[in-house]
Amino acid sequence: MLNIKVFGIVQGVGFRPFVKNLADANKIGGSVANRGSYVEIYAQGDDFDLKNFLNALQTENPPRSAILKVDVNHFPDKNFSDFRIIDSVHEKGDIFVSPDIAICEKCAEELFDPNNRRYLHPFINCTACGARLTIMKNMPYDRERTSMGEFPMCDACKVEYSDKNSRRYHAQPICCNDCGCEVYILGKNLRGHDAIKFSREILANGGIVAIKGIGGFHLACDARNFDAVQRLRDSKIRPTKPFAVMFKDVSSVKRECLLSDAEKSFLDSPQKPIVLLQKKIGSIAENVAPNINKLGAMLPYTPLHLLIFDFPDEIKDFPDALVMTSGNPSGVPITIDDDDAIKNFGFCDAILSHNRKILLRADDSVMDFIENRPSMIRRSRGYAPLPIFYDSNKKSVLAVGGELKNTFCLAKNDLFYASPYIGDVSTLQTVEVLEKSIARMKNLLEIAPEVVICDLHPRYQTALLAEKISKELNVPLIKIQHHYAHILSCMAENNHHGEIIGVAFDGTGYGADGTIWGGEFFICDEKNFERVASIKPFKQAGGDKSAREGWRIATALIGDVAIARELNLAGDAELRGQKFLLENNLNCVTSTSTGRIFDAIAAILGICNVSTYEGEAAMRLQAAAEKAMRNAKCVMRNENLSTDKIFAEVLTRRLNGEDVCELARFFHDALAEMTAQICEDLSRRTNIKIVALSGGVFQNSLLTGLVTEKLRRGGLKILRHELIPANDGGICIGQAVAAINR
Ligand code: ZN
Ligand code: ZN
Ligand code: FE
Repeated sequence: MLNIKVFGIVQGVGFRPFVKNLADANKIGGSVANRGSYVEIYAQGDDFDLKNFLNALQTENPPRSAILKVDVNHFPDKNFSDFRIIDSVHEKGDIFVSPDIAICEKCAEELFDPNNRRYLHPFINCTACGARLTIMKNMPYDRERTSMGEFPMCDACKVEYSDKNSRRYHAQPICCNDCGCEVYILGKNLRGHDAIKFSREILANGGIVAIKGIGGFHLACDARNFDAVQRLRDSKIRPTKPFAVMFKDVSSVKRECLLSDAEKSFLDSPQKPIVLLQKKIGSIAENVAPNINKLGAMLPYTPLHLLIFDFPDEIKDFPDALVMTSGNPSGVPITIDDDDAIKNFGFCDAILSHNRKILLRADDSVMDFIENRPSMIRRSRGYAPLPIFYDSNKKSVLAVGGELKNTFCLAKNDLFYASPYIGDVSTLQTVEVLEKSIARMKNLLEIAPEVVICDLHPRYQTALLAEKISKELNVPLIKIQHHYAHILSCMAENNHHGEIIGVAFDGTGYGADGTIWGGEFFICDEKNFERVASIKPFKQAGGDKSAREGWRIATALIGDVAIARELNLAGDAELRGQKFLLENNLNCVTSTSTGRIFDAIAAILGICNVSTYEGEAAMRLQAAAEKAMRNAKCVMRNENLSTDKIFAEVLTRRLNGEDVCELARFFHDALAEMTAQICEDLSRRTNIKIVALSGGVFQNSLLTGLVTEKLRRGGLKILRHELIPANDGGICIGQAVAAINR
C-alpha cells in the first residue's frame, strides 16, 4: 500500500473527488483526506494499477489545482473494500489556501439554461470555480469553516454535494435557487431577480450602482456615458485617476482596445485580472481614463456580473461596458459590508448587496504587460494568497509591508504568502484593517511568526503596528531599508540566490542615511547590500506637496525662478514661496527619487504640473513619449548622462521650443542609457553579470523595455518582476526574505 501526500493548491479545487474517481477507474482501494496542509491518500492495488494511478494523479489533476510536491511512502497492506473520501482531519503543516476563482464555462452555461435548476442563480459555482479565500474562516476548507456555513443545503444540493459524479461533489459554497444566499437592494424591498432587474434599469439609464462582489463592493456605471462617469468622479472625489472597465465579453474589449494573445490569455484566465490595454478610438467616454493611452479592462468573473450584463428582461441596449471601480472612500480600504456601504455610498442610485459575508478583502488584481510578459501592478483577487517559493532557512516570519499599496507577507518553510491588497495604510482606520487582516491570515495559514519585520521609516504607521505585534508575540522586530526590500522581492520572485546588481527606482523610501532614496544602485545578495551609486541628489522642498507637485522639483532643478516663470510652472506667489524654501533650506530634504525626476520633467514639458493621483505625471510622460515614437522614427542616442545633465538638456531643448513628446521620449531613452551604463560599469568592476530591476518606476513599460534592451546588449542577465508588483505592493516579500536571512 502507498501513502501519498500531495502538497499544493489541492483544497477547494475538486481534488479529492478527482482522486476518488481516479482510484475507482484504476481499481484502487483506500482513502483520501484533506489534512489542512496537504491531501493524504492511502492507495492499495496491484503494481501496474498503482503506477497508472500515481502517474495520472500528477498529470491529469483538475485545472484549478496546482501540485507543488508529492511524497510517496510504502505501507503494509490493509483490508480496503473500496476507495472513500474521509472527513477532514486537522493537522499542522504547510497550508495552501486557494485564491478566489472566476466563474467557469460550465457554470456560465447552466446560468443561462432555462432548464437548469440554477437558471439565473447569482451564486452558481462548482468545484472548479467560485469564492474561496474571501469566504474562509479556517482551514481545512470545508463548508462549516466558510461564510456558507450559516446556510443549510437543500436536499437537491445535498445530493449533488455527495455525488461523486457531480461537478459539485464537495463544492463547499454550493447553493441554488432554493437554498443559500441571495441578492437584494439595500433599503428597498427588492430581492433576487427583482433586485438585479432594478440595478440594470438604473445602469441602463445612466445611474450609479454599488455592487457587492467577491472581495468587496464596486461602483458601477455605463462606461460610454460621459455624464454618468463624471457624476461618479465628482461623488468619489476622484478627478482624473483612471477607472477600470468591465466588458461584457472579449469582442466588446476588442472593439475598444488592442488585445494581444498574451494579454487575452490573462484577461480571460480563471484569475480574471484587470489588464491595462492600449485604447482604440471607440465609444468609451473619454473621462474614464483621461490623458493616458491605456484602459484597464476586465471580464465578468462572478455569476452576478454575467446577470447584470445579460439578464433576460425587457431592457434593450444594455451597455456592454461598465465602469467598475473599487467601492471605497478615498484612502480607505474597499468596503465589504452593508453598514459601511450605506455610510459610504449615499450618492449611489442603488446598492446591490448580498448576504454571503466577505471575510477578507480582495480588490481586483491589475496587470500591465512589458515586452509581452505580464507586469503585475496590483496583486490581489485571484492571485493572493498563492505562495512563492524561495529556498531559505524555513523560519516563520511576518513582514508588514510598506505604507502605500500595502500588502503583508507571512512566510514559513520556504513559502512566502503575500496578502491581498490592503492599500494606503497611513490612517488609523486603515491600520486597523491591516491588523485584522494579518490576524485572519495568520490564523488561516497557521503561521506563528518568530520575527516581525518592517520598513526603516520612523514615521510609518506600519512600523508602529509591527512594533505592537512584535511585543504581543514577544518576538524580535527588525527594520529594513525600503529599496533593498524591493530588490530582495525581485530576487525571491526569480528564485535567485547570490550577488547581483540591484537597481531600485521609485518614488520615496527612507534611506539608510536619513535622506530620501529612490534612484539606487546596489551590490547585494540576500544577506547584505551596499549602495554603490544613485542618481544625483537634489533638494526636495515643500514637504508632502513635493511628492505630488512636479513643478516644485522642477523649480529646484532649474535653480532660476525666471525660467520657471517663463515655463509657467506655477503662479508667481507659489514660485516665490518655493524659492524662499530652497534658499533658506526650509522644509527641504535631500532626495535621490527617480519618481520625482519624472514629475519634474513632466512639469517643464507642460505635460503635468501637479499630479492628482500617484504616478499621474509619469504615466502622462510615458504616453507623450510613446506618441513621439509612433509619430516619428526615433533616433536612439548613445550618451553618458547623469540625471542633472539629462534634466538640463531637456530644459534647454524645451526652451528652444522643441516638441514635448519628442523630449519625453528623449528623457526615457537617456535615463535608460545612463542606467545601463552604470550597470555595465559596475559589472566590469565586480564581474557580476545579473541585474535586478525593482521599484515602482519600473512599472513604466517604456523605460523598463529600454533598460532591458540596453542591458541585454551589454551581455547582462535581467531579473524582472512579472507576477509580484515592482511597486510597494511587492516589498513585503523582500522584507520577509531579509528577516529570514538575518
Ligand atoms: Zn463552475
Ligand atoms: Zn440548494
Ligand atoms: Fe517603493
